[in-house]
Amino acid sequence: MPSLLDVSDITVTFGGRRALDGAGLQAEAGAVTGLIGPNGAGKSTLFDVICGLRRPAGGRVLLAGRDITRLDPARRARRGMARTFQRLELFGRLSVRDNLLVAAELGPRRRQAEKVVDGIVERLGLGDRAGDLADSLPTGLARLVEVGRALAVRPTLLLLDEPAAGQDSAETDRFAELLRSVAADGTAVVLVEHDMGLVMSVCDQVYVLDLGSVIAGGPPEVIRRDEQVLAAYLGD
Ligand code: ADP
Ligand code: MG
Repeated sequence: MPSLLDVSDITVTFGGRRALDGAGLQAEAGAVTGLIGPNGAGKSTLFDVICGLRRPAGGRVLLAGRDITRLDPARRARRGMARTFQRLELFGRLSVRDNLLVAAELGPRRRQAEKVVDGIVERLGLGDRAGDLADSLPTGLARLVEVGRALAVRPTLLLLDEPAAGQDSAETDRFAELLRSVAADGTAVVLVEHDMGLVMSVCDQVYVLDLGSVIAGGPPEVIRRDEQVLAAYLGD
């Protein structure tokens, strides 16, 4: 069986400078895959390549064994890809519930969008905030709603770009449980995150990106002791 996501040899240059230099990773259905690395390492750019927002100068993106390197973002979304952004992208003047509804109406169960939203509100524990304007939420909760929007399309591949930034430790603990339960449903989750406690506790595999290249990959207990990884982080 091929990996659900298999990305290899990705090169991206911005004005002659290489943001990604042969980067690659695999993500499996039912697992949480971590992507860590210092600021500017290329993590968000790699997400852009995976979801089709940036065409790489070289390399391949395979989804369930099929080459999607040239597919546009909308088609990738229809094949089950969803992502959140490092910068929040909520509709500030809509309620939490309506933000979720807009997303659910794009998903495969659009006729039951209301029901899908009810399920997500419950799953994320947003019941008493569902009527609040997105603008009024503290960052940690707004990020949770972003994740809810991504879940509303019932993704097979979920890309999360620093979803726990701004969450307090109780929120992060609950978030870890949520990620495990999303993976348990069979989704492949890829997590970019700076909170090492979260990454190490929730991920099955962790890749380390530095200067546009993957310098290490493996289970968290191996990665946390890797000399090269420690060196890359000390430079951050
Ligand atoms: P990370 O998410 O790991 O912090 P990014 O993928 O955002 O890293 O950025 C990787 C490198 O590419 C950085 O040097 C950044 O300045 C550069 N970069 C990212 N996006 C652009 C862009 N749109 N134009 C020019 N340079 C960019
Ligand atoms: Mg980033």
